[in-house]
Amino acid sequence: MPRPSDREVQARVDVMSGDLLDLLAETVREPSESGWEDRVSGRYADWFARRGWPVTRQPVGPTGLAAAEPRPDARENLIAWYPRRRGLPCVVLNGHLDVVPAGDEQLWAHPPYSGLRLDGHVHGRGSVDMKGGIAAGLYALAVLEDLGVDLPFDVAVQLVVAEETTGVGTRAAALEVPGPVAALVLEPTDGAIVPISTGLLFFTVDVTGVAAHTSAPWRGVDAFEHLIRIREALAEFARKRSASYRHPLFADVPTAIPFAVGTARAGSWRAAVPDFATMSGRIGLKPGEDLAAVRREVEQVLAEVAATDGWLRDHPPVVRWDHEGLPGWETPLDSPLIKALQSAQETCTGTATRKGFTAGSDAAFFGSRGIPTAIFGPGEVTKAHAPDECVAERDVVEATKVLALALTRLEVSDG
Ligand SMILES: [Zn+2]
Repeated sequence: MPRPSDREVQARVDVMSGDLLDLLAETVREPSESGWEDRVSGRYADWFARRGWPVTRQPVGPTGLAAAEPRPDARENLIAWYPRRRGLPCVVLNGHLDVVPAGDEQLWAHPPYSGLRLDGHVHGRGSVDMKGGIAAGLYALAVLEDLGVDLPFDVAVQLVVAEETTGVGTRAAALEVPGPVAALVLEPTDGAIVPISTGLLFFTVDVTGVAAHTSAPWRGVDAFEHLIRIREALAEFARKRSASYRHPLFADVPTAIPFAVGTARAGSWRAAVPDFATMSGRIGLKPGEDLAAVRREVEQVLAEVAATDGWLRDHPPVVRWDHEGLPGWETPLDSPLIKALQSAQETCTGTATRKGFTAGSDAAFFGSRGIPTAIFGPGEVTKAHAPDECVAERDVVEATKVLALALTRLEVSDG
């Protein structure tokens, strides 16, 4: 079967765009907040079944990975094979079924799960992050099937649970699809091709002190003051790390490996010197950096601060690594996956755009295992996780064209 022309692929996407946007709107109407992915997975399973692609439900409970998740026994990934499992090298298309909660509904102009199509946009929680990307990936494949394209690889579509919480869905899916030759994660990227993402470690630091009446604070030990010094030391450590890492795809941001404290708390009474203080935050990781080594460096920074103070020497700050962290990763720009995406985007829009990500995503589970990985999907990242989330229909259709063309151009070798 000869390869269809670029024009035929794009025209076929246009023909199917009504169905594509209907699927997106329908799936947005299912409030599949983390823990409740089963509210939407049936819709996708039906869609796969209608196309005759084999699909399996993979319960994540029995993998033992989901113990920290709510409803572990109700959580299932969907794994579909296009056009079926032929034993060829496998390319993964990955998307997550879960959405973050809608938050205060009063802040939304339309109900958060309306799936409303208005003014050229599909509205609702999950439209950007990331049911728009999933719809684009599914219809890219549907278009290729309708045009009779015979890809030289199998495609495993992984629709996974729990991306917004722990990432166990994608880790479990790796048990079903162990050695893909490439992975395309369909998260929103503002239409850019993302071949690199820095990683992150989440940390919590606890400091103790001694409470005293604030009319005589010298009788106590102020845990909050110590915490502030530790924060400063960590920020300085992070500044040095940032200065030592430059990459052209992060030229537009102050640092590729941001440091931030998200929560801090100290004391329990306004008129008492705080006898404890705690903060949690993140520190960015360079691609390929060893997580354990950075943890040790952070612990060293804390030890250095503690060594300068009598109280801290005897009551050292405690760091807790209450999250596994996400490694950074980078796919070479001349890898077949990135080249296929770029040339497809050039065909569709006239230019290819690339950028780096500083946010964690399931792509880390592929990229850090040395699998050529890219993130590409429709929608503005800033609209995700916010009220009035919506995605431009035009962007979803265009991403579908790019994905379809990229798949026709992707050359894979088995290992
Ligand atoms: Zn997402």
